[in-house]
Amino acid sequence: MEHSNTEKKLGFMTRSVHAGNEIDKETGAIRRPITMANSYALPYDPSDLNWSSASGNLYTRNGGANQQYLQEKLRSLEEGEDCVVLASGVAALSGVFLSLLKSGDHVVVSDSTYIAAYRLLHELLPGKYNIQTTLVDSRDLEAVKAALHTNTKLIHIETPSNPTLKISDIRGIATIAHDAGALLSVDNTFASPYNQRPLTLGADLCVESLTKYINGHGDAMGGAIVGPKTLIDKIRADAMVNVGGVISPFNAWLIMRGAVSLPIRMRQHNQSALAIAKFLENHEAVRFVAYPGLESHEGHAVAAGQMEHGFGGVMAFGLRADHDAHNRFVSHLKVVTSAVSLGHDESLIVFLGENDERQYLYPEDFHGGFFRLSIGLEDTEDIAEDIRQALEKAKL
Ligand SMILES: *Cc1c(COP(=O)(O)O)cnc(C)c1O
Repeated sequence: MEHSNTEKKLGFMTRSVHAGNEIDKETGAIRRPITMANSYALPYDPSDLNWSSASGNLYTRNGGANQQYLQEKLRSLEEGEDCVVLASGVAALSGVFLSLLKSGDHVVVSDSTYIAAYRLLHELLPGKYNIQTTLVDSRDLEAVKAALHTNTKLIHIETPSNPTLKISDIRGIATIAHDAGALLSVDNTFASPYNQRPLTLGADLCVESLTKYINGHGDAMGGAIVGPKTLIDKIRADAMVNVGGVISPFNAWLIMRGAVSLPIRMRQHNQSALAIAKFLENHEAVRFVAYPGLESHEGHAVAAGQMEHGFGGVMAFGLRADHDAHNRFVSHLKVVTSAVSLGHDESLIVFLGENDERQYLYPEDFHGGFFRLSIGLEDTEDIAEDIRQALEKAKL
């Protein structure tokens, strides 16, 4: 598909199918093939080549065919100018931080993020590279403003956030960042581009763990950053070519294949998750449910103003139960699997116990242990019934 100015007029589902794919010139196959090569043929006189260049096919760590096809698709779905795909979501996060920040800079980051973002910004960068970080409750725009310093270069948020499902106002925080001369990066993993496109809401960079909804089948890891070419070129050179966070061609191919069905999968995730969140909210053993699609969620209005088709498939909830009863409940689940990760075809649950080291950052409800539940693509009734019978067997 040509990336002309008319491209945006095609719908999200059409772009999910076609963007990045073309008829293979050599074989006529209507799918671009997988190219498992480490190296590409050099020109007659290679002596003028820049061995660190990521612009043409040279060496797979500098970029390869399948990586580029996936970048075309994601650039289109996130509505950005350019994209780089890397080995994992964390490679993408560290790629943003290490490529764009330097010693003496300051970062403002949500107090609710993926654990590795917390480790990188709260421990690794301050400890090793003299980059200072302020954790802030980014639901509160005044708190975000108050956290800014004159050397703040980046605000990084996640919305909905992992694992507490906090909602931050992307438009509001983009304005605050730009007024302060800082960039805004948004981790869009929980929403996926079907539900939310941070770049269209004012963010400078959108980060995705492709491991989750975009691949969607729980069998390949990847990460992506979408944004303006000037920033992406820098991240590509640093994080991919020089730090080496390249994705394998096979994983790029798998994720490209998974992404085709992203919109129809997200519709089902959105619909089932809302139904399960309501079911949990009405169950007497359940102490609280955090799902931005529920009207009872304090971030519901902000989420509804920036999420287009639904609120994703992930929720958190707590039980009126002691520590052991939480594990007993999980042991009785048959459809829902106890494992980390989210956005897979199968439903996944994780118990985050009361000793979780970031408890001090969690809202009151989350103290004393809670579950993160990722609703999969099974029948909604089967997921609800599985939870109901497991609560019953655990005597809750
Ligand atoms: C899983 C996740 C990541 C990290 O992605 P990996 O592919 O596991 O490295 C980053 N952000 C969020 C919100 C995630 O859920």
